[in-house]
Amino acid sequence: MAVREVLKMGHPTLRVKAEPVSAEEIQSREFKDLIQDMFETMQEEDGIGIAAPQIGVSKQVAIVGVPKDNPRYPDVPEDEEEDDFDILIVINPKVTVLDKTPSGFWEGCLSVPGLRGYVERPSKIKVEFTNPLGETEVLEVSGFGATVFQHELDHLDGVLYVDRVADTTKLSYMDEFMEFHDTDIEDEE
Ligand code: ZN
Repeated sequence: MAVREVLKMGHPTLRVKAEPVSAEEIQSREFKDLIQDMFETMQEEDGIGIAAPQIGVSKQVAIVGVPKDNPRYPDVPEDEEEDDFDILIVINPKVTVLDKTPSGFWEGCLSVPGLRGYVERPSKIKVEFTNPLGETEVLEVSGFGATVFQHELDHLDGVLYVDRVADTTKLSYMDEFMEFHDTDIEDEE
């Protein structure tokens, strides 16, 4: 197991649709190792989510941190952050929008280091996916959790959050973000 290199924006693997994972593959040693590497890489990089294409594997699997209660991530003391997230392993996801009302958050991405951008996404979604045991799960998520999910699942379609920044005056380097834009919500995925 190892911390893997995170591909950066511009790498073509980040821009293709990832392949579905077969039931046999989910049971394989190689796939378990992949998930372990994704975990270790996400932790090393301090992310709350990571998708397989970000470490160069074009497969439909992502790790997603979903806030347990409310989306007020910055209000959570740093040493309690991890307890506030449910970490899910999501394979072959299908998303249905339940509420199109846009919900906006400042997003970051391990593949786009040093930047933050304001993105509006549907505020409530349903996600149907396979878990690492090969079982089907259905989850409804809203608010910040819905954003984290959509950000990670976009990676499986070759989409980066910067593609969804509608107002590019709200795309900022980190220092400038802290100085001029930091309001109440940010995230790092
Ligand atoms: Zn990302």
